[in-house]
Amino acid sequence: MKTDVVIIGGGPAGTATALYLEKEGIPSVIVEKDEFPRYHIGESLTGECGKCLRTLGFADEMKQYEHPVKRGVKVYGPNGKNAFYVPVMTRSDEGELAVSSTWSMPRDAFDKMMMDKAIARGATLVKGRATAPILNENGGVRGVEVRTADDKNIRIEAEVVVDASGPATFLSNKGVAGKKSRGNYSRQIAVFSQVKNAIRDEGPTRGDTLIFFQKKNHWSWFIPLDDGTVSVGVTVPSDYFLSKNESKHDFLVRELHEVNPEIKRRIPEVVLTEEARAISNYSYHIKEFTGDGFLCVGDSHRFIDPIFSFGVYFGIKEGEFSAKAIKAYLDGETRGLANPFADYQRQSEVGQDVIQALIDAFWNEPLAFAFFAHSRYKDDFVDMFAGRIYTDEESPGLVAMKKIAAGAMAKMDSESEFAGATAVAAA
Ligand SMILES: Cc1cc2nc3c(=O)[nH]c(=O)nc-3n(C[C@H](O)[C@H](O)[C@H](O)COP(=O)(O)OP(=O)(O)OC[C@H]3O[C@@H](n4cnc5c(N)ncnc54)[C@H](O)[C@@H]3O)c2cc1C
Repeated sequence: MKTDVVIIGGGPAGTATALYLEKEGIPSVIVEKDEFPRYHIGESLTGECGKCLRTLGFADEMKQYEHPVKRGVKVYGPNGKNAFYVPVMTRSDEGELAVSSTWSMPRDAFDKMMMDKAIARGATLVKGRATAPILNENGGVRGVEVRTADDKNIRIEAEVVVDASGPATFLSNKGVAGKKSRGNYSRQIAVFSQVKNAIRDEGPTRGDTLIFFQKKNHWSWFIPLDDGTVSVGVTVPSDYFLSKNESKHDFLVRELHEVNPEIKRRIPEVVLTEEARAISNYSYHIKEFTGDGFLCVGDSHRFIDPIFSFGVYFGIKEGEFSAKAIKAYLDGETRGLANPFADYQRQSEVGQDVIQALIDAFWNEPLAFAFFAHSRYKDDFVDMFAGRIYTDEESPGLVAMKKIAAGAMAKMDSESEFAGATAVAAA
């Protein structure tokens, strides 16, 4: 089989790449090892992710499925009282902020919706597992070998190979992309499931994502998925999880009543309606993820931390960037370069680095972070939380945040300042 572009993995990064390629008039082949629909974690979408979905033509589907509309993120302090709120807002071409919304969605349905649309628009799905890259004599990547679902070995030759294999990090594991290094949150574990009949807000904030902070690296989430179901999870250091010596189920049920009084209030009786699952060591970074004939998108090169729900957005946005870079390559504009996808790599890292700083700042100085987000640099934080992060210009909020991310800032002078600022948001 021969094609212009072969994409390994049909999660959001892979299917978004196929959809953006189709907009450029470039056909692609997606290789996916799992049968869809299948369970996947990662349901809450950022504001700019919602915008990408509208651009790709998904607005009608999202309304049809009646997925919860997310208008913001609320982060509760350890006592469950003080909170800060970051609304989903869009920015017009004139630079004005306006109230907007995005969605949360169970990933089995979401990933299938993306895959179905990619196929409907011309992508070819090969059901099977990519097993090895095809290399030319100079080490350039020219395709992939696949073990198909019906147990055949096939070769797919391509001008460009896109690795969208998620945490499987296919091209890094095969020694083509760079080595995987530990991220800042690699010694964490997330344990998660779903509950029904949780107490939700009434009114417009009903579909919002809620984060409950206990202490450094110990937090939980509450993401409404439909009228009755809420995705819940607890994220803790792996050593803490092991010290409890509990099953995932028992750990999650107990933690949901201990991690923060506000999540306990919202789930008076914890009855899990899904298997309790866990993911550990999820934070990693592959610094060299492009080269002759290949590029990586989404989790296949970096995952920072799930707290502010950026994973799906990174996959989709990098899908958009990669399609432009592939178009330039196939048109001959960058073909002679040692690394034709170097600009794509730099652009992707700009956004990932902003979110790395955002998350590091949150964990280093949560009080200062809350004060910045809710008060001093409100608009800059609205932009970052939405995902307007692909710019070399640093806003004052980003500069301040990078300082606290680096641990360079003295502690904010008083907790009462934070409490005063956040009490308004909690009201
Ligand atoms: C605890 C936790 C909570 C999270 N919550 C959120 C959230 O609320 N919002 C959010 O946006 N993100 C969240 N994320 C992150 C999100 O899940 C990922 O960032 C996102 O799924 C990445 O998309 P992707 O397409 O890059 O990878 P994936 O979604 O993992 O897709 C990769 C695909 O590649 C396929 N594949 C792998 N290897 C091969 C192979 N050799 N051959 C063929 N196919 C292959 C897999 O089967 C899979 O379908 C969370 C992550 C964690 C760990």
